[in-house]
Amino acid sequence: MQTNKILVCDRGGAPHHWVTWQDGVVLKYKDLLSYEMGDPSVFHGGVSRMTGLQSTVDVGQILFLRETLKYDARIPPLTNQNLFARDLNICGYCGRHFSEAKLSRDHIHPTSTGGLNTWTNTVTACKPCNHMKADLPIGKARDEDGDLMQLLYVPYVPSHAERLILQTRNVLFDQMEYLKQFLPKHSRILQKNAILGLPEAVVPVTEEAQVKKHFYTGKELSAMKHASEIANSKAKRSK
Ligand SMILES: [Zn+2]
Repeated sequence: MQTNKILVCDRGGAPHHWVTWQDGVVLKYKDLLSYEMGDPSVFHGGVSRMTGLQSTVDVGQILFLRETLKYDARIPPLTNQNLFARDLNICGYCGRHFSEAKLSRDHIHPTSTGGLNTWTNTVTACKPCNHMKADLPIGKARDEDGDLMQLLYVPYVPSHAERLILQTRNVLFDQMEYLKQFLPKHSRILQKNAILGLPEAVVPVTEEAQVKKHFYTGKELSAMKHASEIANSKAKRSK
């Protein structure tokens, strides 16, 4: 059974929404498309009584409508699933990668002291880190060694294209390549392969080290540098 969704874009090429392949076929045969892109999938229909042949239809992975649609600029809903996907299942405090079941939503500025439940005030945290941070803001919460907890990456509001990617688990290669051009440069989805596609890494030290090596840029990197200085001085102390 075909489970992959088809990406629908408007006349100008703006990615808009996902449809099932059945709906994609309908759009095609109603002549609503200007063109198609991506490896077409072929679907088999019934057998013709007249010819004895089975009918087939094909439809591309990305469809472009003849009309211009109103650009959907709504931001993605802040669900745990979307949040963990934005942060690539990486804890914002210890930098380690976890399965969804081991993650939680942390409010950087706690809701108990007026922090909002928004994309820019939330970050993925593993349950132990979230527990340690408790109801304290950054700058007050301390880890098990008594050091101040550091936020390792900057939270951001995902764009509409990012929303489309977050919405579906099986984005096909051509669809992903197309959607990537609509992602802001800071999108972590763009770094996903570098971060989680570990084969390129030359020396696999630890999963954590690899994640950190590939993950952080700019501001995040200086935050990391600071964190590693703390870790180094801690290591020296313990010698
Ligand atoms: Zn953690």
